[in-house]
Amino acid sequence: MPDERLFRLYKLHNVDESLYDIKKRAQNLDTGQEELALMKQIEKEGKSALDKYESLHRQITESENKLAETKNKVTKYESQLYDGSISSSREVENMQQEIKMLKELAEKTETRLSGLNEEFGPAKEEAQKVARSLKKLKKVIIGKRDEAKAEAEELKVKYREIASTREERLNNVEPELIRAYDAARKQTGSTGMATVESEEHKCSACGNNVADRMLQQIREGKTILCEDCRRILFIVMPGVE
Ligand SMILES: [Zn+2]
Repeated sequence: MPDERLFRLYKLHNVDESLYDIKKRAQNLDTGQEELALMKQIEKEGKSALDKYESLHRQITESENKLAETKNKVTKYESQLYDGSISSSREVENMQQEIKMLKELAEKTETRLSGLNEEFGPAKEEAQKVARSLKKLKKVIIGKRDEAKAEAEELKVKYREIASTREERLNNVEPELIRAYDAARKQTGSTGMATVESEEHKCSACGNNVADRMLQQIREGKTILCEDCRRILFIVMPGVE
């Protein structure tokens, strides 16, 4: 086989191509970045809903406390009014005035509370909607991260396994060809060799046409580069790996 030297490079290229693919896959694992961006957007857009809910919750608690406190005072003062601890008519009058004011305050607070409570239902629903969306997304992100981690681990093992066969293949290729191959790899940033299907006459990497004259030279074992992508070309026979 005159193109034996190219075939030995092709075997090295197969290893490098697999390693390149594994690296790419490891770099492009889905770690839920899209969901994370969506989460941030929902957090931003839902902030006013959450703030409103929290503010209403706080105001309701405050009003309820205030109402309870006022009612307690009324109860306390009323009992003082009748248990004989206050005797002078002036004191009684003052106390009655105080009780009247407190009752008015309680009434006002009750009105305010009912208004707040009316708003609270829908606000709570909105806030819950935001919280539910965030929770759902978080779950997806955690799942994706776990999956990506497991896959990265698998890829690492596979990479090591394939990389361990590289040196032997490298040693089988003549240095001059390696230099051309490395230059092509550097230029493409990925692979340094491409195949030509004997029927197709096209570079497998970029699709450029390969002239008959070049095919003949490849068959003779010469180092021929694709005119477009500058990869070293090799005619692969069906069934050859
Ligand atoms: Zn090409």
